[in-house]
Amino acid sequence: MQVRSKIASWERYEPDVFDVRVLSPGAWAAAIAVEWRERLLEQRVLVQCLPSGKTPIPVYSEMARWHRAKKLSFAGSTVVLLDEFGGLEPHDTGRCLNMLRHDLLDHVDLRADDLIAFDPDSADLDVECVRISSSVSARGGLGLTLLGIGTNGHVGMNEPGSSDTSATRRVELEPSTTEASSRYVSGGTLPTWGVTLGMRELLASEEVWLLATGERKAGVVSSLLKGSRREDLPASLFVDHPRVVVWLDSDAAGGGG
Ligand code: PGA
Repeated sequence: MQVRSKIASWERYEPDVFDVRVLSPGAWAAAIAVEWRERLLEQRVLVQCLPSGKTPIPVYSEMARWHRAKKLSFAGSTVVLLDEFGGLEPHDTGRCLNMLRHDLLDHVDLRADDLIAFDPDSADLDVECVRISSSVSARGGLGLTLLGIGTNGHVGMNEPGSSDTSATRRVELEPSTTEASSRYVSGGTLPTWGVTLGMRELLASEEVWLLATGERKAGVVSSLLKGSRREDLPASLFVDHPRVVVWLDSDAAGGGG
C-alpha cells in the first residue's frame, strides 16, 4: 500500500474483470520491479516464470539495479523460461534464453541449477516438454508468472486457438509472430516454430502479471480489457484467474503519454 501511494500516475479500473494498473512510461518498470522485489523478499524460494522479448527489458534493468545496490537477491529462487524459439543457432541473439541472460540473468545472482529452460535442439521435444513440466512441478509449481502480450494476443507461444488445457508443447508460430521475431534474431532465418509452457501450466500459476507497453499493443490491450474469454485471444484466458494484474503503460492503455 505504501508503495502504491508513491506512484503519482497510479490508476486502477475495471476491477470486476482484471486488476489493471496504468502508469506513465517513465514509472511503469520501476513500479513492477518494486512489487516483484517484495515478492522475492517475502518468499526466497519463489518460482518465477519469465518471458524474454522487448517488453520486460526495463523491468529487468530495474531488478538488476536493485541487485547491484545489494537490496535484492535471486539466490534460492527459481527462474523458469517461458518459451524458446526453434531452429535458431545456439548463439543467435533471438534465442529466448540468450535474451533473458543478456537482459537479466547475467546481472543477478540466480544459481545455475535454479534455471529451468527448454532445449529446443533436443532430439525428442515431447520428452523435453515433459522434463520442463516435471521440473516445474518438482519445485511446487509456478508462483509468479510474468507474461508479455503479443499483438495477436498470444502469451508465451500459445498462439490464438490455444485453450485453457493446452499443454507445454511444440507449437507452430503464426506468421505475425515469426515476423515480430525479426526484432530479436541475429541470424538470417526467422523461426517458424517454438516450444512453450502451455496455458494449463500458466493458468496454474499462483499469480500472473500481464505486461504491455507502447502504442503497438493498444489494440490487443483494448480487446483484452473487454473482459470476455476468447480462444482467439489467449491472454483473455486469464479472466477467471484469481490473481492477475495487467500492468500497462499509458501508451498501451490507449491514453497517450
Ligand atoms: P515483445 O513481445 O515483448 O517483444 O513485444 C511480446 C510477445 O510477442 O510475446
